[in-house]
Amino acid sequence: MHDLLTELFPYNRSITGDGVRKTLSRIGQEIPILETRVKSGTEVFDWTVPLEWNVKSAKIYGPDGSTIVDFDHNNLLLMSYSIAVDEFMPLERLKEHIISDQTRPDSIPYSTSYYKDAWAFCLPFSFVEKLPEGEYRVVIDSTKEQGELIYGEAYIDNQSNKTVLISSYICHPSMANDSLSGVVLAVELFKEISRLKNLKYNYRFLFAPETIGTICFLHKNRKTIKQSVEYGLVATCVGDAGQFTYKKSRTPNSDINRIIEHIFVQKGLNDRIRNFSPLGSDERQYCSPGFNLDVGVLTKSTYGQFPEYHTNEDNLDFVSEASLRESLNMYTQVLLSYEANCRYARIQPYCEPQLGKYHLYRTTGGGGEDNLDTILQQRMWVLNYADGETDLIKVATLSGFDILDLKSVADELSRKNLIEEIKYD
Ligand code: ZN
Repeated sequence: MHDLLTELFPYNRSITGDGVRKTLSRIGQEIPILETRVKSGTEVFDWTVPLEWNVKSAKIYGPDGSTIVDFDHNNLLLMSYSIAVDEFMPLERLKEHIISDQTRPDSIPYSTSYYKDAWAFCLPFSFVEKLPEGEYRVVIDSTKEQGELIYGEAYIDNQSNKTVLISSYICHPSMANDSLSGVVLAVELFKEISRLKNLKYNYRFLFAPETIGTICFLHKNRKTIKQSVEYGLVATCVGDAGQFTYKKSRTPNSDINRIIEHIFVQKGLNDRIRNFSPLGSDERQYCSPGFNLDVGVLTKSTYGQFPEYHTNEDNLDFVSEASLRESLNMYTQVLLSYEANCRYARIQPYCEPQLGKYHLYRTTGGGGEDNLDTILQQRMWVLNYADGETDLIKVATLSGFDILDLKSVADELSRKNLIEEIKYD
């Protein structure tokens, strides 16, 4: 994952343009990607797809004529969607077009102006402070013209009428944890999930420019998405060394919220669960009132909460293969736990079955409850709550056992015809 991230890192991504094109075609070498192209000017709900933006070069020349800032060194140096400029100007005027952050004086801040014609350079405050008075020349060779917005999807069809959505965004230039870590995790997760058999749900992976790309995706699928999406997760900020964080979907007691809460409690991460808020990433669109999909956000350190966020310090050293792997395992556990969740009913619900008859009980009786071995305890829990109403995640929460362990016990009890799964759509 870190190797792919390293390759994608330098591309000049934005919400449109060649950086997005290159990113999608590189992902397409890993997994099958279906691209959707939306023309500039297309109206999607209250939004209009902007002109396509590309940059050839962007430089600031100092009073002595030497190059002092060069976009080729780091694409964060130029504000995304900066319009073309070729002008001389005094320092005072240049400073009106410089964005810097006094609180992180040595970092390049990330900035964009997608919907308003403007230009700016994003520079470390410590660098700007030292600029001498004089005449500067700014040359930005960029284009904003009729083009397209592109997003990609990868799909695993398990012949279900319900789909799990894994959403990542491909609009951030050279930053590693925000945006790209989620992209490479989604690619790897796709590979893992496509190897598994007998899954209940289809899996749809979205690689779209944040906000406007997701709005295009939702607009295109507006008639079917509410019916088809079982739940979803926004994958971003999954490569740093921080603790996991889960931001709930908008419906507090949705199944995905309950399942991730169960997993977090087991791992001692109870205090890392956040309620939904309409601020953040693409969950803002998924959880808008018209859709209100069960989409949560599963990250390590959350966006906005780590000091390197939206600066050039969110770089290749800030993320590691080990952290990406931890996140991949967490995502896989969530997906499989959700797959495992279902309701059971006892075939004959009066009293306990005589488990010995089914070779499900140890042969010597006696001993207290504490001596019952773990699997036997799990059988008792599953049998008792096979009431047709309680789902397995609830049993897991009540008993403290892992849902995946309870599922294998339930499978065995089903094979012995003691319980049956309640099917509902
Ligand atoms: Zn961001």
